[in-house]
Amino acid sequence: MKFEELNIESCVLSSLKNIGFEEPTQIQAETIPLIKDGHDVIGQSQTGSGKTAAFGIPLVEKTEKGSGIQALVLSPTRELSIQTAKELEKFSSKKGLFVQTIYGGVGFEPQLRGLKKAEIIVGTPGRVLDHIRRGNMDLKNIKVFVLDEADKMIDMGFAEDIDDIEKGMPEDKQNLLFCATMPERLDRMKRRFTKNAKDIRTKIKVDESMLKQFYCNADRKSKFSLLVHLVKQENPELAMIFCNSRRETDMIAKNLKNQNIDAVAIHGGLTQARRERVLNDFHEGKVKVVVATDVASRGLDIKNVSHIFNYNIPKDAESFANRIGRTARAGEEGKAISMLSREDHDSFRRIVNEFSYDIKKLEIENLKMLPFDTGRRNDGPRGRGGPRRGFGSRSSGGSRGGRRRSGSSVPRDSSKFKPKW
Ligand code: AMP
Repeated sequence: MKFEELNIESCVLSSLKNIGFEEPTQIQAETIPLIKDGHDVIGQSQTGSGKTAAFGIPLVEKTEKGSGIQALVLSPTRELSIQTAKELEKFSSKKGLFVQTIYGGVGFEPQLRGLKKAEIIVGTPGRVLDHIRRGNMDLKNIKVFVLDEADKMIDMGFAEDIDDIEKGMPEDKQNLLFCATMPERLDRMKRRFTKNAKDIRTKIKVDESMLKQFYCNADRKSKFSLLVHLVKQENPELAMIFCNSRRETDMIAKNLKNQNIDAVAIHGGLTQARRERVLNDFHEGKVKVVVATDVASRGLDIKNVSHIFNYNIPKDAESFANRIGRTARAGEEGKAISMLSREDHDSFRRIVNEFSYDIKKLEIENLKMLPFDTGRRNDGPRGRGGPRRGFGSRSSGGSRGGRRRSGSSVPRDSSKFKPKW
């Protein structure tokens, strides 16, 4: 099918041609006609499947130049807001619409200036609500309201903000809710924001001819050594390493640098400017290895990622799908390697069963144990790369002070790990 067959406004069609969009993806082919017809739509499909254009193309069609703010897209993170706004600008380049991003961590003034001329707003709920409360944003002409990555916005605690934001909008606007998965916790939001919505779900799947998945076992103490071994062996073009906490993300990036692997951490604890710089450097290939938390990378469209390393396994299957979906995009091949220590097995088993992934075991031989600096003062000589007393060695029992961890599957110092976000 071609975009022409979807009866899209000619100037939007011409913008799509300019950026090389010829055929709609599945979610686009299914949702664009419904949105054009004025239905509320709930659209679920995996990350990277073209959801932005699925709502973005009809949204741009419905928006008129010079008639004030007519569309509001809420998204969970600043990075995703920027990315979505860029896509919408591309779709509307011939129409000349002004798209303003609204997110926290930066000044109000430039956003305020943009709000005065914008037709489309893309932003995170917190800052959008701030502008509304300051009287900076008039939503009475909104025609289309989009909740993008709605599941993640709920997880991040935005439900109340979204309720408040919606109060200022006309009753008869069109509501579109997009997400990567459809957990039960979305039910309230679906009821609250959509009326007689058309439910479109495309199957979450990976193209197993393009994405090869592997796992290998490692005890917790040799995991970092295994990671270095794998990164050096695979020599990736661009790699993302996923961790479950900010602290771990920083620690792994730092230790990779100690091993002469040029890695940079990205997570929600960094300043906006720093996160953008890391992403740009990664986009441009200046940095080859990014160590990330789940949310920091969610929905982001980074091309040519050849390898995903799961340093540990997320609790939910959706985050796992989202992680491995960073590679094998746009017809490129990719490889995802999951590293499992004892505490990862339950989640991993559940995820593999849920998605019926084909994941092959990697056997690692002759793993060289490396020092690992935890950044704690009493780290001892191994932290400074000096004589190693037992990091990864069988005899040490592992933990600091020589205390052997009990049979618990929870790491002894897990209480010190901050939550993901
Ligand atoms: P998204 O899932 O919206 O983040 O889109 C993933 C990537 O696919 C982005 O780089 C889009 O620009 C691209 N894309 C989306 N739809 C199409 C299409 N119909 N043809 C070509 N590329 C597309």
